[in-house]
Amino acid sequence: MASSFPDIVPELQARTPQLRGRLLANQSLAELTWFRVGGPAQVLFMPEDEADLAYLLAQLPAEIPVIVIGLGSNLIVRDGGVAGIVIRLGRGFSEVKIEPGWRVRAGAAVPDVKVARAAQEAGISGLSFLRGIPGAIGGALRMNGGAYGRETKDALIEARGVDRQARTRVFANAEMHYAYRHCGVAEDVIFTQALFQGAAGDPAVIAAEMDKITESREATQPIKSRTGGSTFKNPPGHKAWQLIDAAGCRGLTVGGAQVSEMHCNFLINLGGASAADIETLGETVRRRVKESSGIDLEWEIKRIGIPG
Ligand SMILES: Cc1cc2nc3c(=O)[nH]c(=O)nc-3n(C[C@H](O)[C@H](O)[C@H](O)COP(=O)(O)OP(=O)(O)OC[C@H]3O[C@@H](n4cnc5c(N)ncnc54)[C@H](O)[C@@H]3O)c2cc1C
Repeated sequence: MASSFPDIVPELQARTPQLRGRLLANQSLAELTWFRVGGPAQVLFMPEDEADLAYLLAQLPAEIPVIVIGLGSNLIVRDGGVAGIVIRLGRGFSEVKIEPGWRVRAGAAVPDVKVARAAQEAGISGLSFLRGIPGAIGGALRMNGGAYGRETKDALIEARGVDRQARTRVFANAEMHYAYRHCGVAEDVIFTQALFQGAAGDPAVIAAEMDKITESREATQPIKSRTGGSTFKNPPGHKAWQLIDAAGCRGLTVGGAQVSEMHCNFLINLGGASAADIETLGETVRRRVKESSGIDLEWEIKRIGIPG
């Protein structure tokens, strides 16, 4: 039976008479993630814009947890669902603007691929790496998403965000404290916008670069599967997929979850997997890699919520 949480929406509505975005109780999150697994959000909130987001956060009792999700391409939602409020940014955060000086400003809900395309059309180079990352800009900011030799930190001028106390701040690149697939900004900050710096480029050349990225990904990654992208970070000096392969885990299954035959740092939901199947498979891979190589793999995929 699907789990459900006490409905706190009426209480939240009473506290926030001027709220414009939607609050939904016990809303399933599985459809909002690439893996298509997991339980509901106690409350799913879709703010209309940044002011609406800040308004809710300001009125919210401190003990209610808040978490933001993007396009769910790097995410396992556990089977018991997520207590508190899950925020998903939508329309009010979906603008892309070209600015003077080869700059691109994008809302946190804009898919990365759309930013890459807008830059290409405007003859701005340096952002085509975003073509291959199937998340939205908020996720790229938080994960320092990257591919093909470039990552978010190489292109970012600054990011805007709202914290749990409803304070809006602009973070300069250095204040993001970026490392490989890591952002050092406090976990409670919800990014709302990014400003990227590109350089002058030829739209045809950039388009060709993007086509190459598309082809290469189709050939090497199970991009049409229910997956979460790279499961583990590459440990310094190693490739996670090689360690996983050497540990004999290619094709390994737990319930309905499998280590991809195509790219063994990707886990796949074959159809009927639970979040527990996927997480147990990941932990099994970690244990086997530790036994065979002595190396501890660190999860890159974010896991949220409570076990079923
Ligand atoms: C087929 C496939 C290929 C992939 N290839 C790559 C790749 O080449 N390079 C790469 O870096 N990643 C890759 N990924 C992983 C993933 O696409 C990236 O990590 C992406 O940046 C996640 O964005 P998202 O919007 O889906 O975030 P989600 O998966 O929804 O969330 C990821 C994390 O970001 C946080 N987050 C989301 N939005 C915000 C926000 N607005 N403010 C603050 N925090 C936020 C969430 O709380 C969570 O901790 C791949 C994934 C798949 C499925």
